[in-house]
Amino acid sequence: MINIVIFGAPGAGKGTQAQLLAEKFDFLHISTGDLLRQEVAMGTPVGLRAKAIMDRGDLVGDDIVVALLGRALETRSTHPNPEAQLDQWDVERKGMPRRPEGCIIDGFPRTVQQAQTLEFLMRKLKRTIDCVVAIDVPRDELVRRIHERAAISNRSDDTADVIRHRIEEYDLKTKPVLDYYKVSGRLVTVDGSEEISRTNNRICQIINLVSHLKNER
Ligand code: ADP
Repeated sequence: MINIVIFGAPGAGKGTQAQLLAEKFDFLHISTGDLLRQEVAMGTPVGLRAKAIMDRGDLVGDDIVVALLGRALETRSTHPNPEAQLDQWDVERKGMPRRPEGCIIDGFPRTVQQAQTLEFLMRKLKRTIDCVVAIDVPRDELVRRIHERAAISNRSDDTADVIRHRIEEYDLKTKPVLDYYKVSGRLVTVDGSEEISRTNNRICQIINLVSHLKNER
């Protein structure tokens, strides 16, 4: 089982790539942004608290995000009977329950503190983050993409001011996470300014390599 983090600024294409990779490799895809939006959509107390923060483009507190991530990691991959825990969606889509081959996390960690927490969570599950794939996209292109998405999505955090603030938050709090993984030798950067399929092929090569090296160990 390999565990990958997909990393990048807002608009870099983390979600798109993570989804394609999850399909191809039969990985679990855990997106903290999606987990939060689900809470908002369900109108839970956590969702109500998170919505106001997300609408401003601020980072949601670790108490909320870490709890959601921990729950997703535990219930969906380490339950004594993982098949019993699969989403109905998986069963409907594939016709039978599946046991994931790995896990792909997008949207987390967003701070160095979260990176440390992720190490702790993984250790508890007797797993490790094998590789962090950072999708690199020039600033102008990021802004252009989010504005383009804003025209078709109904995400309430895709307005001009909020987009600017999300990118500021990324620069200030999230970028330092790159050094954390660089120092521990697990960071690979890919060019995310190309076509989706080219970037995807590149990440697939990396995952195959990581998996090969892990099997050799
Ligand atoms: P994007 O990275 O494209 O802005 P996401 O769906 O990953 O979109 O995140 C949307 C929002 O959800 C973020 O702006 C933030 O408010 C919140 N969020 C997601 N993941 C985290 C996290 N790990 N820590 C704190 N807040 C988060």
